Amino acid sequence: MKKRKGIGRDIPLQWVLIVPFVFQILLAVGLTGWLSWQSGQTAVQMLVNELQNNISDRIQIRTQNFLSTPIQVNQINAREIQSTHLDLNNSEQIIRHFITLQQIFPQINHISIGKEDGTYIAVRQSKTKGFLDLLLVNPQEPKSIYNYLADEQGKRILLKRIGRNYDPRDRPWYKEAVQAGKPGWSDIYNYFDATTTGISHLYPLYAQQIVTPSQANPPANPQGPTPKLPLIGVLATDFDLVDISSFLQSIVIGKTGQAFILERNYNLVASSHPENLFTIDRGKTLRVRADQSKNSLIREAALNLRTIFPELEAVKKKEELILTTGGKKFVQIRPLIQEEGLDWLLVVVIPKADFTKEIDRNAYITLGICLIIFLLSSLLSFTIYRQLSDWILRFSHAAQAISFGQLASPDPEPVPRIRELAILARAIDQMRQQLHDSFTTLETTNRDLEERVMWRTAELQEANQNLQYLATIDALTGAANRRHFNDYLEQQWRQALRYKHPLTLIICDVDCFKIYNDTYGHQAGDKCLQQVVAAICGVVKRPQDLVARYGGEEFAVILPDTHLEGARSMAMEIIKAVADLKIPNARSTVAPHVTISLGFCCVVPTLELSIDQLITTADQALYAAKEQGRNGYQEALTKLS
Ligand code: GH3
Ligand code: MG
Ligand code: MG
Repeated sequence: MKKRKGIGRDIPLQWVLIVPFVFQILLAVGLTGWLSWQSGQTAVQMLVNELQNNISDRIQIRTQNFLSTPIQVNQINAREIQSTHLDLNNSEQIIRHFITLQQIFPQINHISIGKEDGTYIAVRQSKTKGFLDLLLVNPQEPKSIYNYLADEQGKRILLKRIGRNYDPRDRPWYKEAVQAGKPGWSDIYNYFDATTTGISHLYPLYAQQIVTPSQANPPANPQGPTPKLPLIGVLATDFDLVDISSFLQSIVIGKTGQAFILERNYNLVASSHPENLFTIDRGKTLRVRADQSKNSLIREAALNLRTIFPELEAVKKKEELILTTGGKKFVQIRPLIQEEGLDWLLVVVIPKADFTKEIDRNAYITLGICLIIFLLSSLLSFTIYRQLSDWILRFSHAAQAISFGQLASPDPEPVPRIRELAILARAIDQMRQQLHDSFTTLETTNRDLEERVMWRTAELQEANQNLQYLATIDALTGAANRRHFNDYLEQQWRQALRYKHPLTLIICDVDCFKIYNDTYGHQAGDKCLQQVVAAICGVVKRPQDLVARYGGEEFAVILPDTHLEGARSMAMEIIKAVADLKIPNARSTVAPHVTISLGFCCVVPTLELSIDQLITTADQALYAAKEQGRNGYQEALTKLS
């Protein structure tokens, strides 16, 4: 059989059925999962950015609030002093005024004034609830600072401590303010008890700024230094940075997010993680940098920021960053406060995991569903493949069986429940059935034909035999005809030649038969000839002897294996048998009945002799018998004998 072109590249059925099916499902499920995960990620980023903006805005507003109070307090004090409502030489009045302000602005930690003459008056929140601390330095007793516990009316209740060697003019804050020559913020400092961290708003007071009440309102916040004016003192109002930290700690920043405020040198100002903003190293207080924070998230964010912004001066506007080390984090950094010497930045850092846990969970669930669907679809397509391949195998076996000629009805098989396969199964079965019927019909027809051929052959053989018989028989007399005589004589000649047996040929001729015909008619003549033949046949008894009509009223008798004596005997018997018929032939010249004359020749054939010679010799003998008077025989006494 010719191999089908491209048969080597045949694709297995399982690939055709399973791979596209599973691929489609995986693609659909995977794509959907990926898209939902992607949109989740985008939504998270947007949400986090929004949250960071909100938190940053709130912190900015609140911080500005915190910072505006000390400025306001200083402005009030300056105005009061400048308008001479407040007498700088009246310590008690100043104390009462400060206490009033302290009560109005409870977030203020410390209101003070240091004067050029060494006076120092400060009202401070006390650890004893409902009371205040008064800190006083009198120029009459320079550098001695008296620390009283006072009630809310300024009445000294207890002298807590007397400090020595405190001159406001030597204090850094005083010097900063004098050097700046204008209102502004001090550096962040640590209180002497090292428990809290504060910042002071400083307001230097100059002599000519103090005007009489009749004068118009002086500027509340004079711009720029007025170096020509003599300095009277410095106003300082403090607030505790812990308040900002507390506020930061009160904000919900995602789940684990942090916010912190830092200076451009990375020093922490406030943190949403409760921690000290100072450390003490060998008696020296040191600021804590953001990258030294106890909170790992703040520390990590600061360290990453240091890598991205070695100089924080580069941060001019809001920057949004995504840090990837140690889990993804969204970081927003923006300038927070830039006024009167303050330059703070705000950082809000939120781990992505705060928002993506649910999304990640969903992603894992999607992945799980993908796997389950993959397994189920593989199983399903494998089952379909098995079913289809089973049926296809059955069909191919059925087709093979048909091609091998196995057309008998197979054992009943289940019918496929898939419509197309059921149609195919029925078609194959019908084809088998039709082929079976056709072959059966063909076989029957063949058998019939064979029988008819056999029958016809037998008929033909019979007809042939009849024809052969007819071809060898003389129709009138029933003796062998001349053709058969020739064949038989030749056959016997060869036989005799081979075995060196004698062969006798007798030729007979009815005497005066012309006369007979003339006398009795031809029909009688025919009948006469039939009787003569019957008589001759009655004499000849051996099966191999043959009586033939040689022509007209002449007959030949072939006597195989017959010697001369036997031939003479046979000749005499023939003459007698014919004579004994007593068929009348009244006008015969020989006898009143039909007689016969014979000539015969008996010979042992040799290669030198021929059949013609035998016949001629026997014929000559017949003529001799005729000449000798008829109704007798003559032997051929020639060289043949
Ligand atoms: P002879 O004694 O010399 O043989 O004389 P004859 O009359 O027999 O000689 P001839 O051979 O001349 O005649 C033979 C005759 O035999 C001639 C013919 O009419 C007759 N004859 C030959 N064949 C048939 C035949 O089939 N039927 C009949 N009725 N007569 C035949
Ligand atoms: Mg004759
Ligand atoms: Mg004759």
